[in-house]
Parts: sequence; C-alpha cells; structure tokens
Amino acid sequence: MGNSSLSQRVQEMTESATIAMSQKSRAMTEKGLDVISLSIGQPDFNTPDIIKEAAKTAIDENYSKYTPVGGFLPLRQAIADKLKRENNLEYSTDEISVSTGAKQAIINVILSLVNPGDEVILPAPFWVSYIEQIKFAGGIPVVIPTKIENNFKVTTEELSSSITHKTKLIIYSSPCNPSGSVYTSKELNSIAIEVAKHKNTFILSDEIYEYINFTNDSTSIASFPVIKEQVITVNGVAKGFAMTGWRIGYAAGPSWLIKACNKIQGQFTSGANSIAQRACITALNEGEKVSIQMKASFLRRRNLMHDLIQGIPGIKTNKPNGAFYLFPDVSSFFGKSTSDTTISNANDLCEYLLSDALVALVSGAAFGAPNCIRISYASADEVLTEACIRIKKSLSKLK
Ligand code: PMP
Repeated sequence: MGNSSLSQRVQEMTESATIAMSQKSRAMTEKGLDVISLSIGQPDFNTPDIIKEAAKTAIDENYSKYTPVGGFLPLRQAIADKLKRENNLEYSTDEISVSTGAKQAIINVILSLVNPGDEVILPAPFWVSYIEQIKFAGGIPVVIPTKIENNFKVTTEELSSSITHKTKLIIYSSPCNPSGSVYTSKELNSIAIEVAKHKNTFILSDEIYEYINFTNDSTSIASFPVIKEQVITVNGVAKGFAMTGWRIGYAAGPSWLIKACNKIQGQFTSGANSIAQRACITALNEGEKVSIQMKASFLRRRNLMHDLIQGIPGIKTNKPNGAFYLFPDVSSFFGKSTSDTTISNANDLCEYLLSDALVALVSGAAFGAPNCIRISYASADEVLTEACIRIKKSLSKLK
C-alpha cells in the first residue's frame, strides 16, 4: 500500500515546480514569516468588472447545465473573430476547441498527436508542464538549449538540426514563460519555412502571454500559409485578462485535430465551466482596453525589475520583451557558501533565498535551464523593490 501502489505513470511525473514553490512560501507565510513570493505565474490584478458582471448575468440567466464539449458556439465565434481581427488567422468554429485552461488544451493536443516513442522538440527554457505532459503521453522530449545572449531563442538552424523522421511536434511559447522572450515575425517566418518541409511535424504555438508583449510585433506562426495546416494555436484568458482561476483556454487548428481534442475532453472533463465561458465572450469582445492598462503596469515593472536585478553583482540578465518574468543566469554563485550553506545549483540558490531573504523564486532547472532562476514581477513596485534589496543582501553573503 502507499506510494508503491501508484501507477508508474504518476510515480514518474514530477510535481509542478512553480506550484511546489508557491505552496512552500504559502506555508511559511501561514507560520507568520514575511515571505515575498515572486514565484507565481499570475497577474496580481483582479478580473476586470465588465467580465465579472457578465458572469453574474450568466448565473442569473441560468447557464447552469452541461456545456457542449468543444465550448459554447458564441464563445467559439468570439474566439474565431478575435483570431481574425488580431492574429490574421481564419478559423471556423469547428476548428476551435474550448478547454479548462490552456493547460488542458495543450494536453489534449499532445495526447491527440503523440504516440509512444515520438519525439517532441522543446527549446529550453520551456514551460514546466510541457515536458511532463509529453512524457505522460509516452513521447520523448528533445530539449534544445538556448543562450541568454540570443535572448533564449532557438535559431532555425538549431531547430532544423534537431528534426528527425520521428519528430511529431515542436512546442514553444511566445511571449515565453519563463524567459519573457518574443519571437519576431521574421524569425517565425524562417521557422515556418523550415518546419513546412516536414509534413508530419506539427507546431504547438502557445500564445497565452500574447497580450503582455512589449514589442509592436505580435505574430502567430499559423498566419504563414506555408505552415498553417501544421500549427495548433493555443491561447486563453488567464494572463491577458487576469482570469487564471476562471480556467478557460482554447486551441485552434485543423478540424480533424480539434475533433480529436474534443473526443478526449468528452471522456475526461466534458465541456468547460458554463459561467466562465459566458464571461469569456465579454472578455474577448470587450476586454481589450483593460488588458492594455494591465500591460502598461507590467512594462513599468519590467523596467524597474530589470534595472534592480541588473544592479546585483554576479547576476547576468537580459531584458525580456514580454510576459512578466526575468530569467537571469545565476551560475556565478554556484560553488559559493555561507558558514552553513553551500550553493551547488539553482535549486540550492532558491532554497537559500527562501530561507535567508524570505523571497520565493523558482529554479530554472524545471524549465530546462539549470543556470537560471525565474523571477515573476507580477507584484506591486514596492514589493519588487523590497525583494531586490533582500536578494542583493543575501547574495552578498555568499563567498
Ligand atoms: N502556457 C504557459 C506558457 C503558461 O505559463 C501557462 C500558465 N502558467 C499555461 C500555458 C496554462 O494556462 P491556463 O491557466 O489557461 O491553463
């Protein structure tokens, strides 16, 4: 009995590092410690009022029954309109599947495409759940490391040399969690042309941070006709509209694949939450203005946090173009110690900063970049400033 009775599948699964760190810091806070958590991947804003009102109306209008597995038609229509208006993408409502968060949309796509033994390319750093979901499907993750000097972006050449006849899928996020990097239209065009040569290879383009992009270039790779049939665009409302708890995401792609996603969903969860879906129609049709205001705050914080972190001796950072993370290289601290702690890697450094500075960050190891740490700046300016003072002080003790 106990753990050994658990399936191999779940025993082999790693717990989400970001959730684990958040739980740890929450437990310390509950004990009365003044922990600053910069470990969570969510906006600190409340959901905009117009969206909350739409949810209240949905309750009053008795949207309380099971929903269609692929999502309410008016929501799929709002998504199709959004993709056309903002991303230059033509999708019919049959080519869109609404899920319980982008997370479920991603596992639906992976389970629909990946057979045991298939290779899935992940440029690192990657979002923590991709690798676990790929392994869960029996796929083989093929990790391509990237360099901070190239803003953690994979080049077409690196990608091309990793593609084999077994490559079924390539997954990336842009803007990227954890690096904040944004692929330019030119870079995506070059990748599209390369991958289009391999008709059995698909691309999952995770655009969940789309609205937190500080450049003027927000391109969906599916907008290049040469690759469209091989791309699944995943997006959702969690980050751009401060709706992480509402749990609505979606996938857009070829209808045969969307049908498969719905088939899986029909057996596992059924259609996503009815109230949240109704609220999302309002978010997509009317939420742009509030989303732009939130982006302005994230940009200000990005600048603040970048300057503060860059000012800490030993930390090497770039200036990310999106999302709400910095992903600095902290390897210069490896091998250093205090009287009772030695830092061997980024995990040790995060443990040390949690206990000594009372600041919760996430090690880059879980994101496939073990020299780095992820710092979320989705917090108030004063909190970020205080966190950096503490981090700087604790790091200065390492000799
Ligand atoms: N993709 C990335 C890159 C993310 O950071 C997240 C959320 N942390 C998700 C997908 C999942 O989004 P959702 O909350 O809609 O499931």
